[in-house]
Amino acid sequence: MSRKRKYKLVRKYSNKQLTKLAHKLGLPGNVPKKDIAIKLAEYLSIKISSHTGYMNVLDDYFSNPVEIVGIVPFIPKPTDSNNRQLQKPNVVTDDFLKSYQWRKLRLVALELHGRKCLCCGASPATGAVMHVDHIKPRRLYPELALDINNLQVLCEECNHGKGNWCETDFRTNKDAT
Ligand SMILES: [Zn+2]
Repeated sequence: MSRKRKYKLVRKYSNKQLTKLAHKLGLPGNVPKKDIAIKLAEYLSIKISSHTGYMNVLDDYFSNPVEIVGIVPFIPKPTDSNNRQLQKPNVVTDDFLKSYQWRKLRLVALELHGRKCLCCGASPATGAVMHVDHIKPRRLYPELALDINNLQVLCEECNHGKGNWCETDFRTNKDAT
């Protein structure tokens, strides 16, 4: 870190923002601020040692947030009132898509493959809506509904064109990027 850097103690961020950052870094929201800073510094490859150093990393992030990619985010479990969602979802109904297990796994798949259609290359940057697709359809292969190896990322159009009759694994098209 440059000594010339103007340092202002801003710390305008709230606990809610801090929790959100922790989740992005794959940490539960209730970890100490310093642990979040350590993880963030690690992610940004910043070497620091002092307490002030860690706080600077947080201040810098919140005054100029960077996108955090390549880390599987932490997803808090639903509270007791939503406990039903923790039971194994019925994979053949559309309720499956609202289940905690599925929402968590689809994020893992997005982190793994990136937010880019593995068939046509479309991405949110080109206006596409991304879907996490079951290569072997869950209605025909319910046992593979929550198998990460059965998931690929497709844009909405490619996914709708695919349908249950098609079991093409587009992951073999993946670019080296
Ligand atoms: Zn596509």
